[in-house]
Amino acid sequence: MCGIVGIFGSAQAAEMAALAMFTEQHRGQESCGMAVSDGKVIRLHKKMGLVKEVFNSDTLSHLPGNIAIGHVRYPTKGSATEFNSQPHLVETLYGPRYALASNGDIVNYRQIREEMEADGVYFNSDNDGELIVKYIVREMESRDQSIIDAIRHLMKEVKGAYSTVLATRDALYMFRDPYSIRPMVWGRNAGGVVVVASESCALDILEVQQRFEVPPAGIIRAHNDGVTIIENDPNLYRTAQETRHCIFEHIYFSRPDSHHFGENVFEVREAIGRALAKQDNDLEADLVMPVPDSSNFIAMGYAQAKGLPFSLGLIRNHYVGRTFIKPLQTIRDESVRQKFNLLPNFFAGKRIVLIDDSIVRGTTIRQIVELIKKGGVKEIHLRLGSPQVCHPCYYGIDTPTREELVANRFALEEIRQRTGVDTLKHIDINDLRHCVGNGTEYCYACFNGDYPIRDTSSADQFHECIRS
Ligand code: AMP
Repeated sequence: MCGIVGIFGSAQAAEMAALAMFTEQHRGQESCGMAVSDGKVIRLHKKMGLVKEVFNSDTLSHLPGNIAIGHVRYPTKGSATEFNSQPHLVETLYGPRYALASNGDIVNYRQIREEMEADGVYFNSDNDGELIVKYIVREMESRDQSIIDAIRHLMKEVKGAYSTVLATRDALYMFRDPYSIRPMVWGRNAGGVVVVASESCALDILEVQQRFEVPPAGIIRAHNDGVTIIENDPNLYRTAQETRHCIFEHIYFSRPDSHHFGENVFEVREAIGRALAKQDNDLEADLVMPVPDSSNFIAMGYAQAKGLPFSLGLIRNHYVGRTFIKPLQTIRDESVRQKFNLLPNFFAGKRIVLIDDSIVRGTTIRQIVELIKKGGVKEIHLRLGSPQVCHPCYYGIDTPTREELVANRFALEEIRQRTGVDTLKHIDINDLRHCVGNGTEYCYACFNGDYPIRDTSSADQFHECIRS
């Protein structure tokens, strides 16, 4: 997934970028980095670790300048190493001139990389961001194109999801794939500083009131001359109906205080909860309880619709971080056990509706149910805010193989039994479509296999889900 930020026009660009990156820490916890331009030199600092571990007043004081881009990384493609962390800084004959950070995955990465390698381009990492920036620089240098033409060329040839910030010595560029799969929002604060981020909560923290979506296939340039919104290439432009925003951003990934794709994340989650409650007219229970924090608003929507008490029976240790984002299964298992504890003397004899956002590999929920049962609960009715995840995401979410997805290994009733709950229901995909309703289109490929952009070399995409 990852998070990006960009700042233009502040003497505190590095400090502002660090704050915005910290606000987006939930989008990636493996590594982070920042590139800052003072008009002459672009300096880069990136390391494995959390924003507050990597950036302190000392490191920030070595990053002077008015333009900054930053990135928090959650590894999807490529190993968890410093080489794969972002931003990527490209050396030209004239020194380091271009730094870039991107969120999303390139579907035809292998093919484009092979073409570029045949052309003599050398890669230090397996990361999409490096491919994007080197593609742009190659277009500019060997084909004598302007930076805008180079980005447009990239938009035609390089397929996939990319919400991207690019810093040159004197400008900040922001651009986004034609389907606008990953979120990206920008604005200006009262002092005229331009801020762009993956999520609007990062703009809130920097007191940016005005905010706009970066348009599909759009390129925005911030420079001392002002901000220019460069027209979309008519061959690439998608109308709002043709976009394919990631529905999973609303269900799980984004912070509930963010607003993207024209909707408030928390409201979409409440609507999901209400839709789940509608399937349960006859269900009798004592209370509704989320797996915190991602499912809190889904559970609130459900509880309000059913007129049941909402309770937080599971208490989270906030210092464990997001369990799913750990690269190895063994680390994930351990994190789940460390992450949750039960309210004492709370569950005995109770019938609970347990709400979670999704089941992917099945690790989290199995362990949570085991824990709740130790509290003496009478019944557990598990409700999921997403349909079954049956298909890998090729656009930036870490579900690498079909085999890892529990929905492809067992039928739903078997999953219920293995999880140890009394009943198990997912939201229906058509009900989910009604929870987002502002006229823009979403990508549901992880549920239904309907991929907006296909990598034809991957047969994986065409398999069916087991489902029943
Ligand atoms: P699992 O334990 O593999 O079934 O993972 C499911 C849990 O991980 C959900 O309850 C979410 O909280 C979280 N999750 C689901 N999908 C993702 C994802 N793509 N990236 C990060 N976390 C996720």
